[in-house]
Amino acid sequence: MKFKIKKKQKNIIIAAVLLAAVILGVCIRFDVFRPKYIYSGDPYVCLDAGHGADDVGAANGDRYEKDDDLRLTLKIKEKLEAMGIKVHLTREDDSDVTLADRCKSANKKHCTLFVSVHRNSAEDKKANGIEAWVSRNPKGDEYTLAEDLVANICKLTDQQNRGIKKGFRDNSFGDYYINSDTKMPSLLLEVGFITNENDNKAFDEKLDETAETIAKTIYDHVQK
Ligand SMILES: [Zn+2]
Repeated sequence: MKFKIKKKQKNIIIAAVLLAAVILGVCIRFDVFRPKYIYSGDPYVCLDAGHGADDVGAANGDRYEKDDDLRLTLKIKEKLEAMGIKVHLTREDDSDVTLADRCKSANKKHCTLFVSVHRNSAEDKKANGIEAWVSRNPKGDEYTLAEDLVANICKLTDQQNRGIKKGFRDNSFGDYYINSDTKMPSLLLEVGFITNENDNKAFDEKLDETAETIAKTIYDHVQK
């Protein structure tokens, strides 16, 4: 009898520990312990179409990254504004704007979020997928926003999720200029490889839906 009670107690303790572990796991998975970042003031999103003018960015034949970046950026602007979100563009046409001026204009206008739109490239034509870059020390909720943007685009287009990267591709001690010189949460989104035919197909065929997905994801983050 004595033994039976002890065994029962032991089972209860094991069950309680397991339950606590499951609850802890669920809390960590859903960021229960991470305080939600609250954007201050009315949402004002700065959209930054990468490159411009003589700086064509990456290329694939006569297809230039600067044109793809602008095409998608203008669509995202349209979608965000339709959702009632104010948008600032660092360039609206094929003009040459320095990285410093892009950051300066967003800081001066007190934008609450900065999203830079780019396309990736690689020697290996098979390299493909979506990724985003944030600061080594992410500001606000830029890391989770980047995660949501990449995941939602991949869900829409069935492209590869290459994850979120911190810092700068060519220098492990630095950050991308637009991530280090902006005062608000910021990220650089690489919307597929311009050097990969399937990524270009997804970009062209789902341009409107991709813009809608990006706008909706941003909207969900900047709305209080
Ligand atoms: Zn680029």
